[in-house]
Amino acid sequence: HSKRIGGDRIDVYKPAMRARKTDRLALEAELRRAIEREEITILYQPIVRLEDRTIAGFEALARWDHPKLGRMSPSEFISIAEEIGLIVELGLFVMDTTAKQLAIWQRTVRSREPIFASVNVSSRQLLRHDLIHDVRGVLSRSAVARGSLKLELTESLVMENPEHASQMLHRIKELGVGLSLDDFGTGHSSLAYLQRFPFDTIKIDQSFVRTSSRGARPVLLKSIVALAHDLNMEVVAEGAETDSDAVELFQLGCEYAQGFAFGEPIDADATVRLLTGEKVPQPRNRRQSIRNI
Ligand code: C2E
Ligand code: MG
Ligand code: MG
Ligand code: MG
Repeated sequence: HSKRIGGDRIDVYKPAMRARKTDRLALEAELRRAIEREEITILYQPIVRLEDRTIAGFEALARWDHPKLGRMSPSEFISIAEEIGLIVELGLFVMDTTAKQLAIWQRTVRSREPIFASVNVSSRQLLRHDLIHDVRGVLSRSAVARGSLKLELTESLVMENPEHASQMLHRIKELGVGLSLDDFGTGHSSLAYLQRFPFDTIKIDQSFVRTSSRGARPVLLKSIVALAHDLNMEVVAEGAETDSDAVELFQLGCEYAQGFAFGEPIDADATVRLLTGEKVPQPRNRRQSIRNI
């Protein structure tokens, strides 16, 4: 087995074997059963307020603990789930689990601004399914502060069907759910155009943020941040890997940052220890069942 620490290491385990067609079919069948078999784990990565380095919220990131292949990253199963239509059920599971966890965080830590949680949403959930119905259900099952549950959508998703997406997003916003534009900068549309969508936050893609992409970075980031603020949006910088990244991002005016500088995605128990100030151990590969939450 490949040993994995945290979230981002992928494709280490027998990629050739995974690619075979029969295995792909088997994988699809296994994925269909993964939720009921409690093989889907949700990790949470801290999103830090740069001003005082406190935890403002967490992003939910799904993992599949495959019985034979080990822990799989989203790049290995989200697109399969999308293709076979399972993403609707999986997405609802992630939203539900995260909202329940969010209610726990908010009971644990009573901060001036309630902790938030953001959940990634796929195109099929928004454009070919009644996401509003699902979101209503999620909110009815968990008592979370208004606006503290957020959905993350990419630019390419909303641009697939801008009219419909805009309509749906306005209705979701009315339910008291925050909306973040994920991976900003990787697409082709301007932030000015994107203002027709009711996003309250933009997440600048890690390709603009990571130390490895130094160079034109400060200039680009500065103008993105300025425009976002003009449009009344807050800014999260993704992929802050070092402390000097964090310092620079704060100087550039980003409100929040997320990245290895502040912590990798961790399991639910570790988030509670982190929030209550206990020392956080290294992320483990222990399985987390929804029943334990
Ligand atoms: P994303 O939403 O942009 O999430 C951020 C990704 O960057 C995560 O990868 C996270 O582990 C990684 N990351 C965080 N900090 C750093 C850093 O400092 N450096 C680097 N190099 N990477 C960092 P992850 O967990 O593998 O997720 C990949 C993508 O899979 C996510 O990108 C999201 O688009 C998708 N995804 C994850 N969970 C779900 C889910 O429940 N539903 C859907 N539809 N998509 C999901
Ligand atoms: Mg995201
Ligand atoms: Mg992102
Ligand atoms: Mg991404």
